[in-house]
Amino acid sequence: MPATVDPSPETPGPPTRQAQTRQAQTRQAQTRQAQAQPSETPLARTRRARRIVRILGEVHPDARIALNFTTPLELIVATVLSAQCTDKKVNEVTPTVFARYPSAAAYAGADRAELETILRPTGFFRAKANSVIGLGAALVDRFGGEVPRTLEELVTLPGVGRKTANVVLGHAFDTPGITVDTHVGRLSRRFGLTTQDDPVKVEADLAALIERKDWTIASDRMIFHGRRICHARRPACGACAVAKLCPSYGTGPTSEIEAAKLVRGDVEAAR
Ligand code: SF4
Repeated sequence: MPATVDPSPETPGPPTRQAQTRQAQTRQAQTRQAQAQPSETPLARTRRARRIVRILGEVHPDARIALNFTTPLELIVATVLSAQCTDKKVNEVTPTVFARYPSAAAYAGADRAELETILRPTGFFRAKANSVIGLGAALVDRFGGEVPRTLEELVTLPGVGRKTANVVLGHAFDTPGITVDTHVGRLSRRFGLTTQDDPVKVEADLAALIERKDWTIASDRMIFHGRRICHARRPACGACAVAKLCPSYGTGPTSEIEAAKLVRGDVEAAR
């Protein structure tokens, strides 16, 4: 087996000014976070969370689910296909999928090889074909071919976890649901609205802070903010409309010029 090569120099030189600035920004952000959380009352946190959701609505008035669908069945299939895949890619494939398989029974009886070929561009196509066939069969066997309307029933379906179930509830049935994907989890922690990593616990913390009627739209807005501004690696803090409400301000560049370069538009963010 080849030896692992350590890319770092054996004797590191002095940190560059850029690295020093970044370290200082991270330290500031950590200090703010540590200072902000304990002193904040539950009421103050609730008010702050709701203001954040409101402001994000002004900044991202177009926030909505990025997957294309017209029925609950189409949405649940599209959501299953979106695992480890961009919404843009899923939207390229689903017109063919939806036309070929118009009902739960059609998925249940799908030719596996043909379905796998259609799903190939979305990645993990064998597992996804399995899930979609199993999903169709379960819907036919247990729900008369219809997508069920409760979280408890939805999560019993193959390939459907709590995240997918909440997406379907919120967007196909107008039943408020908090979708904790990677963006919602990260932003909730940066906002200091949770300290949890487990999506179920994050969901519970958010549910306690945000009005129930806003659960779905709050998730959509946070997802848009995560894609466009508050990126995982270098959030564009200097271009962030909720900076004053965010204890993690300073995690990314605070200079307006530097931050503006990090902001992603619709096309890049959808990738
Ligand atoms: S971009 Fe910066 S200020 Fe804005 S939410 Fe993210 S960490 Fe907070």
